[in-house]
Amino acid sequence: MSKIGICTASTVEMAELNNLFIELTSKCCNQHCRNCYIDFPKYKKVEDFINTEIIKTALNDTVNDNIECIYLTGAEPMLHPDFNAILRLCLKRSNVCICTNGSLINEKKSRFLKKVESESSNEIFFKISIDHYNEITNDEFRYRGAFRHGIFAIKSLYKYNFKPIVVVTNYSNESDQSLYEGFYKVFKNAGLNIDLPHIQINPVYNKTEELIAPDFKENSKKLDCKNGRILTSNGIYSCPFLANDYRGRCGGNFQDYTKKCSLETNFCSTCQKANSYMFSIDYSKFQ
Ligand code: SF4
Ligand code: SF4
Repeated sequence: MSKIGICTASTVEMAELNNLFIELTSKCCNQHCRNCYIDFPKYKKVEDFINTEIIKTALNDTVNDNIECIYLTGAEPMLHPDFNAILRLCLKRSNVCICTNGSLINEKKSRFLKKVESESSNEIFFKISIDHYNEITNDEFRYRGAFRHGIFAIKSLYKYNFKPIVVVTNYSNESDQSLYEGFYKVFKNAGLNIDLPHIQINPVYNKTEELIAPDFKENSKKLDCKNGRILTSNGIYSCPFLANDYRGRCGGNFQDYTKKCSLETNFCSTCQKANSYMFSIDYSKFQ
């Protein structure tokens, strides 16, 4: 890897739009994690929800694309006041993955989500963030009560035959093996039979790290920008990391947007460290 400015950044041309990320809110969350990469305003609650009409337009504009999964993201997507309607709308088109902190999921909500899924021919998936198998360590990384919220959400979803993917950001800098074993024990004690593909370990994005240009020589690298784009209230961006960031700007709408992106940010360096996609589901792990 070499420093930015000395070498030309790599680029990626999106082959096919398979993963459509929709940011339902960029700064509204019911929690305040210590390590969140979003820059929240400190003393103000923001309610910046995407307008449902923007989503309808995007679904129309991408009608000829082979979308395999729509990811509802945020900050916390389940806070969107029209969340249920948006979920139904997206399920008409493809499978949907809800990327959440889990704090709004209980048994009643899980039962409701199963009902919504049963009305559709597509499936609902979940990605729930828990960063450590030890409750105290996890809550130090996130917020007090985060561990219990996560486990409770997963248990509730299991009751209704959902099998969420646990997304672990490796703040503790432990080996993958140690994290897998720790989580495996926790879930076993909770009566949950979670297998390895349902635990996704991501490297940490470090805001303060010196900017190093990533060097993507290996074409095989699984990058979210190769098969996906994110829709926000402000337009289309190359991936969830770069949502609303001018460096990831691809266009105003899906009728006219660029399929090429330049891999030149610290976020891209984080993707390079990952063994798999950071945001999309890696279906190859489930085969
Ligand atoms: S739950 Fe997610 S979006 Fe909300 S503060 Fe924590 S990391 Fe950030
Ligand atoms: S942050 Fe990752 S997914 Fe986003 S453009 Fe860079 S390499 Fe691609």
